Amino acid sequence: MNMKHNPFFTAITALSFSAAVLGINANQSAAMTGTNATPPPTPEVAIMPIMATDASCATPYVIKKGETLAVIAKRNTGNLFDYVNIVRITNEIARTDKTFKPITNINIIQVGQKICLAKAKPVVAPVVAPVAPAPPPHWEYSGATGPAKWGDLSSEFAACKTGQEQSPIDLSKATLNDVSNIHFAYQPSKINILNNGHTIQVNYDAGSYIVVDGKRYDLLQYHFHAPSEHSINGKLVDAEVHFVHKAADGQLAVVGVLIVQGPENAFLKPVWDNLPTSEGPVRSISTLVDALDLLPPSDLSYRYNGSLTTPPCSEGVKWHVMTQSIQISAKQLKAFTDIFPISNRPIQPRNTRNLVLDVTP
Ligand SMILES: [Zn+2]
Repeated sequence: MNMKHNPFFTAITALSFSAAVLGINANQSAAMTGTNATPPPTPEVAIMPIMATDASCATPYVIKKGETLAVIAKRNTGNLFDYVNIVRITNEIARTDKTFKPITNINIIQVGQKICLAKAKPVVAPVVAPVAPAPPPHWEYSGATGPAKWGDLSSEFAACKTGQEQSPIDLSKATLNDVSNIHFAYQPSKINILNNGHTIQVNYDAGSYIVVDGKRYDLLQYHFHAPSEHSINGKLVDAEVHFVHKAADGQLAVVGVLIVQGPENAFLKPVWDNLPTSEGPVRSISTLVDALDLLPPSDLSYRYNGSLTTPPCSEGVKWHVMTQSIQISAKQLKAFTDIFPISNRPIQPRNTRNLVLDVTP
């Protein structure tokens, strides 16, 4: 709002000095208030009222430089006023109550001048206790809070239902293309492991990243799903690991690697030796694991634009699913599925999205 062009504000501004009326004499002011005064209307939110009824004037209020005060009074022909209310203009005034008219025959108020108020401090809005943010709703991979219901559990999860670029998808009928390879700049990391109630996650020490199309994405963590989330030609495999990366601008990039049963994966053994069987905080194990060792030999990958595969299913995630899988033993797989029997979201519609398969190592 442009106050200069607001008639009411102009009126109030003109009255800014009229608070001096209260400076004349508190007793006079109290007398003017009268015994039959009707209660004042509730002030607008932007106005902090200061009642001018302090007969003792024990705590004079000193007008400060830059302070804007106004007096609004109900005019009475018998007495000069039957109610006096001084307000501090804190923001903008939207009063439309026509029964309140300005007082005009008053003295000019001066900075430093004292006026008599019931309370030296303006009335302040009640402090509203901060409300702790509600925890995100509980979700599962099956049942009443399963994937089909995720989008209904919370408005924050709406993308799970309404999103058009959701993950995972079936990786088939890809467009073959020569795209720039993912550059992996990974270093070994401690095993900062947790069971977050949905999967086993290993938070990665800072400093490891990938570069895709000239953009750096830092490796935050890797975690597991069983069965796999992505399918190839309609077929899920035993499991999948997701390496989650984030760029400085907040964009997420995930590298997915499918996992099939085979010999024991020695690189994963130190992780598997420390699987937390119940939900809990991060535990750091000093043994170093290099995420590079968890990748397949081939650099080739499927690429598409997708989402998180868990609530809130946020979109804008760059997906890279490696064409080659890695292996874990049946015993390793069971150790995970004993904790999380199912941890994969069903395949989502691809819609009009392009799926690219890199064909050049
Ligand atoms: Zn995942």
